[in-house]
Amino acid sequence: MGANRELYYGVYMRVYMPPKEVKKKIKTCLDKECMRHMQYVSTPFCPLCGGKIDEFEYIKPSFENLHELLSEDLDDEDLFQVVYPDDKDFVIALPNNFKTQGGFLFTYDTSTEIVDLGSDLTPLLPLLYDFLKEDWVRLVKVLDMKGIKFEKKIGVLQWFK
Ligand SMILES: [Zn+2]
Repeated sequence: MGANRELYYGVYMRVYMPPKEVKKKIKTCLDKECMRHMQYVSTPFCPLCGGKIDEFEYIKPSFENLHELLSEDLDDEDLFQVVYPDDKDFVIALPNNFKTQGGFLFTYDTSTEIVDLGSDLTPLLPLLYDFLKEDWVRLVKVLDMKGIKFEKKIGVLQWFK
């Protein structure tokens, strides 16, 4: 008995999502020298320095999510599968609909040592044409518009399910 693995073969995209600056507010001591500055304080005056407590606006860097871009700019959060590899500065966009977006998905058991990719496997180069499919074209258009770097790839990806 083994675990199920999935093997994907086809086009995918590495997307280098830029860090996004998010405005945040905190009720805190406004004195930047005070130890309580940037800590939440609920009283009207600072218990440490007696200074005024009010909302303080600051900018928090965060990592812009590709899901967010898909749902906001392409109106479909599930248009592509998004995989977040560990310790990488990119996310991976994979087809979610193999018929219209290309690619092949194989599910197999880890006790199977040989993965048969089948005899009808399309030769590599024509797979590049999958990037001409409508959904990929839409994604590329939005990424270009926002100046987000990406790389078109063909390959084999494997993960546990
Ligand atoms: Zn204070």
